[in-house]
Amino acid sequence: MRDSILFNFHGVLLRCGGMPMRATRGILLPMLTAAVLTSLPNISHSQQNPELQHISVQLKWAHQFQFAGYYAALHQGFYEEAGLDVTLIEHLPGLTPIDQLMGGRVEFAVADTGALLYRASGVPIVVLAAIFQHSPSALISRADTGINTLADLRNRRAMLAGGFMNAELMSMLRQAGITSNDFTLVPGNTSIDVLINGGTDAYNGYTTNEPYMLEQRNVPFRVFLPQDYGVDFYGDILITRESLLNTQPEVVANFRQATIRGWEYAVANIEEMVDLIMTDYNTQQKSREHLMFEARESARLILSNVVPVGYMNLERWQRIENIFREQGLLDVPVDLAGFVYVPSQQDSLWSLLMRYRFALAATTALILAALLTLHVWRLRALVALRTRELEAARHQAESDARTDALTGLSNRRLFLESLDRDLSRAARGQCNLALISIDIDHFKRVNDQYGHLVGDEVLKGVASALAGCARSGDLVARTGGEEFAVICLNTDASEARLLAERMRQQVASMDINTVDARISLTLSLGIAAYQVGDTTISIMARADDALYAAKNRGRNRVICAENAGTAPE
Ligand code: GH3
Ligand code: MG
Ligand code: MG
Repeated sequence: MRDSILFNFHGVLLRCGGMPMRATRGILLPMLTAAVLTSLPNISHSQQNPELQHISVQLKWAHQFQFAGYYAALHQGFYEEAGLDVTLIEHLPGLTPIDQLMGGRVEFAVADTGALLYRASGVPIVVLAAIFQHSPSALISRADTGINTLADLRNRRAMLAGGFMNAELMSMLRQAGITSNDFTLVPGNTSIDVLINGGTDAYNGYTTNEPYMLEQRNVPFRVFLPQDYGVDFYGDILITRESLLNTQPEVVANFRQATIRGWEYAVANIEEMVDLIMTDYNTQQKSREHLMFEARESARLILSNVVPVGYMNLERWQRIENIFREQGLLDVPVDLAGFVYVPSQQDSLWSLLMRYRFALAATTALILAALLTLHVWRLRALVALRTRELEAARHQAESDARTDALTGLSNRRLFLESLDRDLSRAARGQCNLALISIDIDHFKRVNDQYGHLVGDEVLKGVASALAGCARSGDLVARTGGEEFAVICLNTDASEARLLAERMRQQVASMDINTVDARISLTLSLGIAAYQVGDTTISIMARADDALYAAKNRGRNRVICAENAGTAPE
């Protein structure tokens, strides 16, 4: 399943188990990412987890800080997170890590640069990472033996472990003009006592170990480092079989990443790692101080503040290859490209994804929650906006239904509703009212003389003159073509007459300016005051009768219904 998952963040193409899916935008990608992430193997911290793949690692030596990165990866759960159940195997006498690896007893091994010679001789080894950027290998002499420079080794004794292990030391000696004929080779011995007791004048040791022992025993010493002579080998390297890389590339990539992560942790937490070694791995019974010395020296060689942990490059391997050639250890071509593993983009992406999957899942969940909240907010805001728009539209429609479009006055519908309501109130004794009915005199002539459009302008002019005369509380309406009415609340007949007279005079005295002419007009007005038992029909009929009386009596006048049949007004 895992190797069938591809991620292409630009095209947003996800392929799961051979099924391609294209999610173009929106929240589909985070949802899919969350689904993929949460469907990853549920990794517990149990060593017995059957979902984990078991692998073994052959260490190069007995447990000590030299392998702290592997302990960290194990104890911090990095291997488990990578789907691996890892066993670390200490160095076994007589068996090299490469023997163990190629014998199929382990899947990974810690070796040194000599692995290149195995590859040259046809052993299909692949180097995955260089943990130590510089080799800790050094030639050490006692300060009191008079060996101040490498040249002083002439005709003296030097202990060098055989084979490629000492290619870098031999190369260093050669740089200093010393060949193996110039000194006596002392057989290899792992005890520093050989040097202390004068069994040899130079001893091949590790900068991470022997200097501490000599200091502890108060033996002044001198260290000759190959790096100072331009011979710069990697130290511990992580290797695997080429066949494993070909058949299970994801296991190799995951193990490598988890190991590098372990080393990053170990270098950043030296004291914690030393404590762990003291309790769980101290097979050599080293003191805490000794382990701390080794830890500090190792961290210096890992160089994690300069390059990413595990960093390698082909040119450096080429220089190492050249030194092997110069030493006569290599006389065939080496397929360096096949030997030096290059993590693929996909592996790195997968490892990154594995590493940050909990953070990614949490972030995705947060983004989803935020998107959802945002979506709900947007919906609510949209609903509120639509409600306001509908309310406004409803108001407008209601207002349109009660307003005369030409003059802006109340229309006949509103007039009748208001009159009905006010009559009911008057009937309950809550108010008094009078009704004025108005008709423009000889309006037909305006239309006939100037046309309908000018007639409309005149109607607007009259409407605004009437509205201008009205008092607050009066309702002025256009009830028909050139007919108007005013409902006057709390007004008796004589007060209504005053208002009607004001309206008549106002219109009679003004000119209405239109595009074509200045037009003067008069009004006829009829008044009816509320009488008990009045309906809209009865009061309107009395007002209209008064209006007709005004017309009949010569127009341009106000007639009150009560006097309509009697004296002219
Ligand atoms: P009077 O009332 O003094 O007897 O004479 P009049 O000419 O005003 O009487 P009539 O009721 O016969 O005519 C009213 C005219 O009003 C008829 C119609 O052409 C005109 N009119 C009605 N509604 C409108 C309107 O909306 N616009 C215009 N321009 N004219 C209208
Ligand atoms: Mg009329
Ligand atoms: Mg008229």
